[in-house]
Amino acid sequence: MKKIDVVIIGASASGLMCAIEAGKRGRKVMVLDHANKAGKKILMSGGGRCNFTNYHVAPENYVSHNVHFCKSALSRYTPWDFLSLVERHGIAFHERQHGQLFCNDSAKDILTMLLAECRQVGVSVHLRTKIESINFVAEDQFKICSSLGELCCQSLVVASGGLSIPSLGATPFGYQLAEQFGIKIWPTSAGLVPFTLQPMDKARFAELSGIAVDSIVSNQRQQFRENILLTHRGLSGPVILQISSYWQPGEAIAINWLPELMLFDELKVLQQQQPQLRLKTFLTKYLPKRLVEKLLDAHDIDIPLRRFSHREFRQIADQLQHWLIKPNGTEGYRTAEVTLGGVDCDAISSKTMESHGVKGLYFVGEVLDVTGWLGGYNFQWAWSSAWCAGQYV
Ligand SMILES: Cc1cc2nc3c(=O)[nH]c(=O)nc-3n(C[C@H](O)[C@H](O)[C@H](O)COP(=O)(O)OP(=O)(O)OC[C@H]3O[C@@H](n4cnc5c(N)ncnc54)[C@H](O)[C@@H]3O)c2cc1C
Repeated sequence: MKKIDVVIIGASASGLMCAIEAGKRGRKVMVLDHANKAGKKILMSGGGRCNFTNYHVAPENYVSHNVHFCKSALSRYTPWDFLSLVERHGIAFHERQHGQLFCNDSAKDILTMLLAECRQVGVSVHLRTKIESINFVAEDQFKICSSLGELCCQSLVVASGGLSIPSLGATPFGYQLAEQFGIKIWPTSAGLVPFTLQPMDKARFAELSGIAVDSIVSNQRQQFRENILLTHRGLSGPVILQISSYWQPGEAIAINWLPELMLFDELKVLQQQQPQLRLKTFLTKYLPKRLVEKLLDAHDIDIPLRRFSHREFRQIADQLQHWLIKPNGTEGYRTAEVTLGGVDCDAISSKTMESHGVKGLYFVGEVLDVTGWLGGYNFQWAWSSAWCAGQYV
């Protein structure tokens, strides 16, 4: 049986970061992954440019049943720490809106950097490796039966991610292993994911597919302002992905299609100033004509403002600024960027990422019940949590 200090399951963002840090401490590290390529999600991320972190990372940008858990790791390994690694490797990057940082060239630069760091500290990465079983055999000893044979390690790190995009290698491995060791799993669901619509709404809005507008989308728990995109399947765009992580099945969301205006007040003033102006002419200065016609199809809007009552203005303003729609569901793990829920943070040390109950067993990255907003927050969680574990494994 081969003896190793640290075995890490998952050769992607969190697994490679943990391996680098453990390797720097002189630990003998093996990273195992069943995929044929390391870091598939890194390569796919940020439209191929990897939104690798965000200047504004804060605990408030994460969803978890334990909102305090992420604080320690995020403060010990910050976006600036990751940026200095990126700069040391000469990777050119740029900032987009909301503090999001992307590679100028390709997400491949980030993966190449992580693998180069692994090589430098003697970490071995084994792809196409099937994990058959894992058992705790003695004090500080895990036995791993795999397609590489039997391995024995002191520290076992689960960096196997969540369930989103099975075609990129996602499996429930981490959750099953946690359960095997008696660790609670919070129910999982797709996050950062487009909504599907009820059949009637879908038919009604299908012809608007392709329209994208700045909007505020909210529910009782959160609100976001970014673009909404109407698609032939339903609602998408960054603002929808963001609110999806706060959405419960059966719940309605409210859409403000005109976030810049106080529409009701504006219409009352305009009625005085330009009574002959047609409502449709006014609204289509701000929104695509097809969208206005569809959202207000119960009203005759191609008439002068003078012909409207204040009551009608109120109804129209509500329709455009507090438009309620009940999604049918989400597109699910097939297109979700992340998985909500997962390994219960209360069972894990926020300092070391080690399980309280099983010495030597660590969880890092997305497998934990910590889910970031869209915008580089999820990679930062992978880097931060894995860096912390890397100091102790
Ligand atoms: C399309 C897409 C785009 C994204 N873009 C961004 C972005 O721009 N910015 C951002 O911050 N976040 C983004 N994310 C989210 C981000 O990719 C993840 O949060 C992050 O990769 C999590 O890192 P991880 O290492 O914990 O898990 P993962 O990256 O999911 O890695 C898990 C690894 O474990 C391996 N594995 C799984 N099961 C097994 C098993 N049974 N045996 C062996 N190995 C196994 C997998 O093959 C994989 O290599 C995106 C996600 C997707 C799907």
